[in-house]
Amino acid sequence: MADDSPLIHRIPAHERTAASTHRGRGHRTGSNQPTGSTMSKNEQLFQRAQRHIPGGVNSPVRAFGAVGGTPRFFARGAGAYVWDADDKRYIDYVGSWGPLILGHTHPAVVEAVQKAAATGMSFGAPTEAEIDLADLLCEMLPSMQQVRLVSSGTEATMSAIRLARGYTGRDKLIKFEGCYHGHSDSLLVKAGSGLLTFGNPSSAGVPASVAEHTIVLTYNDVAQLEEVFATQGEQIAAIIVEPFCGNMNLVRPSEAFVTAMRALTEKHGALLIYDEVMTGFRVGLGCAQGLHGITPDLTTLGKVVGGGMPLAAFGGRADVMAKIAPLGPVYQAGTLSGNPVAVAAGLATLGLIRQPGFFDSLGAKTRKLADGLAAAGKAAGQTFSADAVGGMFGVYFNAQPPKTYAEVMATDKPRFNAFFHGLLDEGVYIAPALYEAGFVSAAHSDADIEATVAAAQRVFAKL
Ligand SMILES: *Cc1c(COP(=O)(O)O)cnc(C)c1O
Repeated sequence: MADDSPLIHRIPAHERTAASTHRGRGHRTGSNQPTGSTMSKNEQLFQRAQRHIPGGVNSPVRAFGAVGGTPRFFARGAGAYVWDADDKRYIDYVGSWGPLILGHTHPAVVEAVQKAAATGMSFGAPTEAEIDLADLLCEMLPSMQQVRLVSSGTEATMSAIRLARGYTGRDKLIKFEGCYHGHSDSLLVKAGSGLLTFGNPSSAGVPASVAEHTIVLTYNDVAQLEEVFATQGEQIAAIIVEPFCGNMNLVRPSEAFVTAMRALTEKHGALLIYDEVMTGFRVGLGCAQGLHGITPDLTTLGKVVGGGMPLAAFGGRADVMAKIAPLGPVYQAGTLSGNPVAVAAGLATLGLIRQPGFFDSLGAKTRKLADGLAAAGKAAGQTFSADAVGGMFGVYFNAQPPKTYAEVMATDKPRFNAFFHGLLDEGVYIAPALYEAGFVSAAHSDADIEATVAAAQRVFAKL
């Protein structure tokens, strides 16, 4: 498993070097060097972006490194659609990587944000609205007795891990290969050479002495998990897991895996951290833990909870949360934590997704998309499958939805990349890498779903 971290694959080495001297890669025209007059606005912007932004992007997967071609620079969004710099419209299944469950520029969210901004962008002091959000989160998630607001998912998971270590007085952390939990040092780790040995950094700049505290195991492998707890149980502070994995495409956990994680952590005095930054208020109103019937010790939230603004949260058992400063010895802080504009977007979004029937409708639409794509792939004779959980879906150039990272890695990548570019040409925007889940919003109409399936049929026919 040498370099099989999604992070490594998202930006292959040749792309990293290519990024400094932009090559349009012209997958359709075969022209590698767009010249001034024929360059699209997207290409011009990508070239300009690279002058002062590393790789032209502020987060690596946006660079299209995995799929090739020129990233689309978006000018505006409305409902289910986004428009790029060349004014081409796309049906958007990325939704800012999950947050936009109501679609782009939902009027109620925009109004809440405008009102909050006009009242005060930031105080760095407590506000009433953040209590409202904390109350709401603790009401919606029974496992959450106390919660702290932060500004990104990375911050939430990093803080939850520090808290778990501070609470248990232990250093070791279990994560699963293919799960992504943000980019803090403890989590940029891949499996070591030997089974059950300490992890190795998956990014330059992460000290081996930090990575060695992280044990990287195989998702859905119960026997391996049992073995680690049997031999190192008293050293393990926590398991952190994506309860439905959405960062190696969409991968479901088995019931046995879910049950084992809860039972083993409980038995050995370790904490179970459900990283619901992606799944939280995306797979259902009660999040993944509601669907699993599991009460984790700590939960991290992000993406949907901020309604498109930088907001995330971590929370859980009151006795564990009592260890956080200023109550306890585990330090954690943030200048913009609980930012009033972000909190307003979160409150407006959660208010709307709590409307009766919201997830029934979203789930049915997402299922219709997944089934439609799977049928289209099958009809075209492709090795292809699809799956959906709530408003989240996966498409796979595998005969069956994968269960482990190794199975995800066995996907036909060139075929996925051709599929991606075919859909892009058709005006359908899915994530520019096969390691990503897709997202449907409440703004997607049945007609959007049908148009997407029809576009996929045309693309499959040409693959
Ligand atoms: C997106 C994501 C994160 C990181 O959140 P950021 O806001 O990008 O820092 C952490 N965990 C999971 C499961 C995620 O999907």
